[in-house]
Amino acid sequence: MRYYSLNNHHHFVDFKEATLQGQAPDGGLYYPENIPVWNDDFIKNLKRKSKLEIGFDIMAPYVGNTIPEKELYGIIEETLDFDFPLKPISENIYSLELFHGPTLAFKDVGARFLSRCMGFFAGKLAQKIVVLVATSGDTGGAVADAFHNIPGTEVIILYPSGKVSPVQEKQLTALGGNIHALEIEGDFDDCQKLVKMAFLDEELKENILLTSSNSINVARWLPQQIYYALAMMQWEHDHEPVVAVPSGNFGNLCAGVVAKQSGLPIGHFMAACNANNAFTSYINTGTYHPTSAIPTLSNAMDVGNPSNFARILAIFQQDHRMLRETISSIAVSDTDTLKTIKAVFEEFQYVLDPHAAVAYRALNEYFTNQPERKGFILGTAHPVKFPDVVKTAIGHEPVVPKVLVELMKKSKTAQLIPPKYTSFKAATLEILKNR
Ligand SMILES: *Cc1c(COP(=O)(O)O)cnc(C)c1O
Repeated sequence: MRYYSLNNHHHFVDFKEATLQGQAPDGGLYYPENIPVWNDDFIKNLKRKSKLEIGFDIMAPYVGNTIPEKELYGIIEETLDFDFPLKPISENIYSLELFHGPTLAFKDVGARFLSRCMGFFAGKLAQKIVVLVATSGDTGGAVADAFHNIPGTEVIILYPSGKVSPVQEKQLTALGGNIHALEIEGDFDDCQKLVKMAFLDEELKENILLTSSNSINVARWLPQQIYYALAMMQWEHDHEPVVAVPSGNFGNLCAGVVAKQSGLPIGHFMAACNANNAFTSYINTGTYHPTSAIPTLSNAMDVGNPSNFARILAIFQQDHRMLRETISSIAVSDTDTLKTIKAVFEEFQYVLDPHAAVAYRALNEYFTNQPERKGFILGTAHPVKFPDVVKTAIGHEPVVPKVLVELMKKSKTAQLIPPKYTSFKAATLEILKNR
């Protein structure tokens, strides 16, 4: 499989190059040359396969010959090393719980696959791979955990001081080893600016391979298809489900749509958004107006200009009418998010996190006039990661799982630095010198 840049359809790279580069040199997103079509047997036999076989069969064509089969199987095994249960909430809505991984969020899947691929490629490189991440919360934790102890890699995480939750901060700062946290005296935008400047700094890049790990990387994006197939393995109804995806940068939704293109029998998608509704407006009006982000209770979806928008357009060849046949979108307010968490807890004793609540609300609204339909939401984070929102909605915090109790006992190690490039660079060089 080759990948081309969506900015230049004549620039091709293989999976290894696309993974190591993250983004094409022209700033475009990498996109697969063709989307594999799964044969009927693969779909019919889904229920008889193991989750590892499914993961391997989905990813093998994308990886091509850049990773040998045996190693790829090992990578899949480590990527899917937890449960993906499809749990009923109401009569017609289920939740695909994607939060049973080490950092309790769906980003664990993409981050683990990416880190192990990079680890494999690092083994064959003369330079060290240095991953730079700016995080407002969840991404950094998943990336830190995924890369911890992966040989040949160092991870430097920049996070805004005082602006991530206590759990998130521990996930970024308690691991040690090859994971280094820089606590920036500024906001998330400052962190992002420093990362962008680092990528333009030729001197810094002299002896290291500097790379990013955000969701535009194909090795983080594409493996997200696997759990859509794992959901269909558990789907017991004759009708094809409607799948509601709480969306921010739209990597998750976009992966699901690719899986449907390959033949996975998903009926329709609901792109569930919060007040950051540029995509919802696009679906409903055909015009796209990206904005700056508005803060909401479902903050991992606070994105004004979703980075995977170009990929969604590519899937449907820019045809708005075709896109609408596959994807609907509804935007949900914070007030309705809180009401939904409360109502679902009271009626079904199921605790939604604010992101899943947005999806539940949107899907429920979509089903209002078609009560015979059924579907599932993607449970993208464990409710315990958003204890304040849950408490506001239902009056108490969710039960804390054992992994978090252990994590909170660990101590924080982070270097506090001002939001200046010179300070950041000095700290980075010092970290790398000592490794
Ligand atoms: C990152 C994130 C999202 C948004 O996912 P995208 O792939 O960026 O659309 C939704 N929910 C949670 C909990 C997240 O961490």
